[in-house]
Amino acid sequence: MIEVIPLKAFTDNYIWALVSKESVYVVDPGDADPVLEFLDENNFTLEGILITHHHFDHTGGIKNLTNRYDIPVYGPVNNRIEGITHELKENNSISILNEEFKIFEVPGHTLDHIAYYSESSQKLLFCGDTLFSGGCGRLFEGTPAQMYDSLQKLKSLSSETLVYCTHEYTESNLNFAVVVNNENEFLKDYYSEVKAKRKKDEITLPSSIKKELSINPFLRLTDKNIISNASNFASINLVKEVDTLKTIREWKDNF
Ligand code: ZN
Ligand code: FE
Repeated sequence: MIEVIPLKAFTDNYIWALVSKESVYVVDPGDADPVLEFLDENNFTLEGILITHHHFDHTGGIKNLTNRYDIPVYGPVNNRIEGITHELKENNSISILNEEFKIFEVPGHTLDHIAYYSESSQKLLFCGDTLFSGGCGRLFEGTPAQMYDSLQKLKSLSSETLVYCTHEYTESNLNFAVVVNNENEFLKDYYSEVKAKRKKDEITLPSSIKKELSINPFLRLTDKNIISNASNFASINLVKEVDTLKTIREWKDNF
């Protein structure tokens, strides 16, 4: 059984610590300090690092951690990331803390982006900056079509899958979602819940695939209310799901 614990980093990043007995793996350690503090406080040992993509807020701590621990660093194929010892591709799988994790390539936010999925005893998804609660990552390197395909992969996972993304963006994503999907009553209720949590500085993660399917406009591209609002925004009649995604991504970028 893996326990997943959030370690806060920078202003809104979570470094996810996967803990089993005294052994720990961390996902996307942008900063080594919160990880080292957590290990020292609990007398835990770091056994490995999982990286989702090359951005510095996800990789910046690799060097300090591997200076102290001689451990494997899993990540995408990208020679811009220093310190990767195990390069991962679509459909590879790795064994972490006695659980199998399957690798998905999910380009869009960046071209190298991968996600880690375990469906053994617990269904866990570590999806970096691809799928956020209530939104998706900005398209820095990939195309809307790539992000669409990536999100299709993730939305087809078992609905009880817990979604661990890297940033606490839920409230800001929902500020937008309630405008683009203004007739979604479930979303409105969830938005109030999230606002109350954030007022108390509480975490809104993990989400689940089930929840995202009901609140996340980027997974609801067949919702007539979203298509109609997006068509108004773009001043064209949107037909294809990928065009709706492209439009609401651009809308959100300027929101
Ligand atoms: Zn990123
Ligand atoms: Fe990030």
